[in-house]
Amino acid sequence: QKDDRESMMIVSAWAQKYFSRYLLQENEGRAVGLSYIRERGIRDDIVKKFELGFCPDGKNVFTQEAQKQGYKMEYLERTGLTIKRDDWVRDRFAGRVMFPIHNIAGRVIAFGGRTLKADKNIAKYLNSPESDIYHKSRVLYGIYQAKREISRADKCYLVEGYTDVLSMHQAGIENVVASSGTALTHDQIRLIKRFTPNITIIYDGDAAGIKASLRGIDLVLEEGVNVKVLLLPDGEDPDSFARSMSSSQLTAYIEENETDFIRFKTKLLMKGAANDPIEKSRLVNDIVRSIAIVPDAITRSIYIQDCSRLMAVQEEVLYTQVRKIIHKHT
Ligand code: ATP
Ligand code: MN
Ligand code: MN
Ligand code: MN
Repeated sequence: QKDDRESMMIVSAWAQKYFSRYLLQENEGRAVGLSYIRERGIRDDIVKKFELGFCPDGKNVFTQEAQKQGYKMEYLERTGLTIKRDDWVRDRFAGRVMFPIHNIAGRVIAFGGRTLKADKNIAKYLNSPESDIYHKSRVLYGIYQAKREISRADKCYLVEGYTDVLSMHQAGIENVVASSGTALTHDQIRLIKRFTPNITIIYDGDAAGIKASLRGIDLVLEEGVNVKVLLLPDGEDPDSFARSMSSSQLTAYIEENETDFIRFKTKLLMKGAANDPIEKSRLVNDIVRSIAIVPDAITRSIYIQDCSRLMAVQEEVLYTQVRKIIHKHT
């Protein structure tokens, strides 16, 4: 079992080196993969830092080379790099730009692969399947590259995608990790908590991103973490946004616009609710439910004061509601 995991990590490490060499040194990799990466404005030092690569666009060019080097089909299959059926063998990531996913110790445990085709029928990103070395719900993309800066800055930015992490690093903001499109989990928050109790969620400025932010808030609150939110302009994601301005502008924008979750929810949900007492009470109750999740009583009372001020509702009333919810659950 332990030997199997080690074998899977060894073949993953070799695959990363193979994809990286293929991107940087082979004609196909340079013409297709590297030019795509450069068109997106990703710098060479970032390519190197995140060990990006390219998987040859053939049926099983990668798998054949791996076998030639002595790597066993069993581990190629178990890592999901190779898909094997009775009558055929193919590379899962053929023709894709490769984003290795590292565990906290820096070992490669999985990959994300981006297609270069604009075809709607092809998944934009493919990920390695769950395996004995890769548990999606326990991993955050970029944690290995970000952990030192997360500790130093005592703060972690949480974004949605691979390229968001890359662009923020490129802009000099290195305390950033991605949930990679999956719903945030408790294990992922606990992973961040090893380095800091302060998390700022920066999801895409679209309906899906806003919905995910709202869901993320309650999850993070449950873990007793301080959560802030930064809402990007409509249609932007951290990648596109970071590239539209200088690093210092980006830093200033983040500092000026990140808001604690109460303000975020209020601003978001007050649109249209401000003059409607029923809508407003629904909103207050929604926020009260979030406050009730916070484990620490002192933090709760600070949030209640904030909420009281922002929504013009008496603190006493809010306390009563919060207490009601807490008691219902104990
Ligand atoms: P890009 O800028 O390359 O178009 P993105 O990161 O902005 O990609 P989003 O559509 O915002 O892509 O999705 C955010 C993240 O969700 C991606 O980085 C990826 O991890 C994941 N994701 C997106 N599309 C898919 C998909 N079809 N299958 C699996 N995961 C996906
Ligand atoms: Mn999106
Ligand atoms: Mn995006
Ligand atoms: Mn994007």
